[in-house]
Amino acid sequence: MNSGTGIRRDYRPADGLAYLFLDFNAYFASVEQYDHPELIGRPVIVTPLQSEHTGAIAASYEAKAFGIKRGTTVREARALCPGVAVMPARHDRYVQVHKLAMAEIERYLPLVKVYSIDEAAFRLSRSERDPARAIETAKRVKRGIAENIGPALRASIGLAPSRLLAKLAAERVKPDGLTVLELGDLPGKLADMPLTDIPGVGAGVAARLARSGVDNFTSLWNLQPKRARAIWGSVQGERFWYGLHGFDVHEEPTKKSMIGHSRVLTRDHEAPEKARIVARALLLKAASRLRHYRLYAGGLSLSMRQRPEGIWEAAQRFSHTQDSYRFLNALDEMWARYLRVGERDGGGPRIGGVTVYLHHLKSHESAAMRQGDLFADAEHAQTDAKRAKLWRLIDQINADPEEKFRRLSGADAEKAKARHISLASQSGLDLNYLGAKIAFSRVPEEAEFLY
Ligand SMILES: [Mg+2]
Repeated sequence: MNSGTGIRRDYRPADGLAYLFLDFNAYFASVEQYDHPELIGRPVIVTPLQSEHTGAIAASYEAKAFGIKRGTTVREARALCPGVAVMPARHDRYVQVHKLAMAEIERYLPLVKVYSIDEAAFRLSRSERDPARAIETAKRVKRGIAENIGPALRASIGLAPSRLLAKLAAERVKPDGLTVLELGDLPGKLADMPLTDIPGVGAGVAARLARSGVDNFTSLWNLQPKRARAIWGSVQGERFWYGLHGFDVHEEPTKKSMIGHSRVLTRDHEAPEKARIVARALLLKAASRLRHYRLYAGGLSLSMRQRPEGIWEAAQRFSHTQDSYRFLNALDEMWARYLRVGERDGGGPRIGGVTVYLHHLKSHESAAMRQGDLFADAEHAQTDAKRAKLWRLIDQINADPEEKFRRLSGADAEKAKARHISLASQSGLDLNYLGAKIAFSRVPEEAEFLY
């Protein structure tokens, strides 16, 4: 049914435990233990660089027992635990193991959505939604991972009527948890949950909630949906409310509405000029996915979380395109605006997180140009088509290092090789799965690409 707010949802909360949310514990460190069995049961940290001053991007539970956390420097970790194993990050490997794990879990349950490299939601069939059956299924998943992949990979599982509640349930017990959350358990069972631990409640929303007198889970639970919408300042608040109250809020499963990437920035990248490099890399990655899905974007949004607080957001529309140069130009314009505002406000603030997403997506078939796109002009369209072709070529080369230049002939291959060299500073990095630490220093500027 349509609630009249743009949110499609079921008529009433989902019947029983409709979702299983799985969150691998200390995932990067666990994969290191999986590949190096002698490290199982031992303190392990994973670092983005080989340096004593770099911060850990993951710590095994054995390391956590010594007080080591994400962000603890190698030097501090060695002081806390002299025997700690320090492993350099291998993002490609973490992606491989992620795929193995997902394939294993999909033997038992259909995948609904991958949230990150170590988190995903699965749907339970109608017949397995009562607690006894759901727990049995969850145990089968855990056993499958342990027996068919390896005991080093442990996961916390949450079972609940909505994906949001299932995720909150998974958060409750770590490592190796299995938590059931039924509507009748609420709000009591989550009464102690800090609001900022809830996905969808960022620092900005938490501050607005606090100003409305909502500073704990129970009062959040007691909000009315319209009130949530007002506090969030968007329909997102109402969507959140429904998820929290166990409604199975549908996201359009087949039709994408946006493609984006988001990163938390470490201290090393919080200066605007560093954050800009990260934003550009995220945007290039999003654009590559856009082309992969054969979609065209008509808008770009940029959102930056500032330290110590605040959010800055901007959006720009343009004629539908797949051309990364156009996206980078739009980003640069928004960035310049951000810097001007920063100057006016007395120095650009430090940036704690950056999100970029492409929206107003159209598929090839909808022929954006012919249908009188508001922003289109013919000259642009031609340049765009050429550049999009070039970018698809680059996508191909980057996605398929084995094939590399084999399928290309003569001049194309020479051009492609030159471009591939230009993109080398990103090689070996999968931005989909890059951890909190951004481990590269630069992304090529447009001028460095060879035509
Ligand atoms: Mg995890």
